[in-house]
Amino acid sequence: MLIVKKFGGTSVADKERIMNVAKRCIKEYQAGHNLVVVLSAMGKQTDVLIDMAKDINPNPSKRELDMLLTTGEQTSVALMAMAMSYLGVPAVSLNAFQVAMHTTRSYGNARIKRIDIDRIRHELDQRKIVIITGFQGVNKYDDYTTLGRGGSDTTAVALAAALHADKCEIFTDVDGVYTADPRIVKNARKMKEITYDEMLDLATLGAGVLHNRSVELAKKYGVKLVVRSSMSEAEGTIVKEETKLERMLVSGVAADKNVTRISLIGLKNVPGIAFKVFDILAKANINVDMILQSIGRSETKDITFTIAQDSRDDAIKVLEEKKDLLGYSEISDNSKVAKVSIVGAGMMSNPGVAAKMFEALYNADININMISTSEIRVTVLIDVKDVEKAMNAVHDTFGLEE
Ligand code: ADP
Ligand code: ASP
Ligand code: MG
Repeated sequence: MLIVKKFGGTSVADKERIMNVAKRCIKEYQAGHNLVVVLSAMGKQTDVLIDMAKDINPNPSKRELDMLLTTGEQTSVALMAMAMSYLGVPAVSLNAFQVAMHTTRSYGNARIKRIDIDRIRHELDQRKIVIITGFQGVNKYDDYTTLGRGGSDTTAVALAAALHADKCEIFTDVDGVYTADPRIVKNARKMKEITYDEMLDLATLGAGVLHNRSVELAKKYGVKLVVRSSMSEAEGTIVKEETKLERMLVSGVAADKNVTRISLIGLKNVPGIAFKVFDILAKANINVDMILQSIGRSETKDITFTIAQDSRDDAIKVLEEKKDLLGYSEISDNSKVAKVSIVGAGMMSNPGVAAKMFEALYNADININMISTSEIRVTVLIDVKDVEKAMNAVHDTFGLEE
């Protein structure tokens, strides 16, 4: 079998853990399998590097930031190869350049376009364990790029697809995918299986256990994906097309704190204003999520929307530059907000799911600032201080607890 195994930051945070991962991989190698191992940077190294960059220059160029961040993964793969060879097994580490992991141009948020597999195949044919840097790629200018925070999962799935691996195992610091983040919701339950679609929604709405694009790719290429613990032999969660289990009304709850709410007050109540606001944001490459338009005082309207917190400064800047064109009287923003969402294919045919969620929030005395829904999810925007209370209340009201 050819297996792609990915280990996250906590799983390779120090010498003991690196040795532990090395031994675990070697056991499977000795059972006759071919292994490609994808690693994240050690512990919180990516955060440390970002802080170092911002200490030197609060607004570093995205190219240089990627150049810096790729060193995190390069450190862990080299140390892992050393650990394995110390334990007597041939291993080789490769970075994105050496593999040739081609991505789109955009620094900080690149997408994988193509992976050359010749070098990897060649090393596997020599019976080496091949250890590859997660999270990074190379663009058409021969510059390093990164895939967005948490992107090593996507590297692993993309490699599994390119190599037609038998499975892709994501090893992390929890033993599978839960009905909600087990660090926040004490009654969260581990799922044996989950569909690609449900996992994609949970990941997109804030369940950081998998990078959402890794799920997208796994679905597209039919990669058999497993999430499990690097610290135990527990079975983990299988992510796949269809599950045998009976569908629950709601499959999980997710929260996202990387949110800023922006309000434009006193816009003219004439056609074309919403177009102008969102066109300006789109041209600045800012993704808008929830949108609310309401009638203001005399002949005016207000538009409120949410964006990722990292885009807050850029958004305020472009909107202030266009103040005359848009003609608003006031702009305000709040980053002390968060989204809490419920996800589940079962809600499509069941009215009353949203009401039940709102009732749970009401009973917990939590105020809702904004609401958005689709066929299979409901999202509310609340104050960030209420997130834990809200997640627990919503989770338990749908009977998801153990
Ligand atoms: P890694 O460094 O291994 O990639 P991450 O921190 O990216 O680890 O992802 C694992 C974390 O995801 C867990 O520690 C947990 O707090 C969080 N998490 C959020 N939602 C979920 C969920 N539904 N199920 C499991 N873990 C979740
Ligand atoms: N090291 C990167 C990060 O912290 C990528 C990853 O861990 O998946 O975001
Ligand atoms: Mg991760």
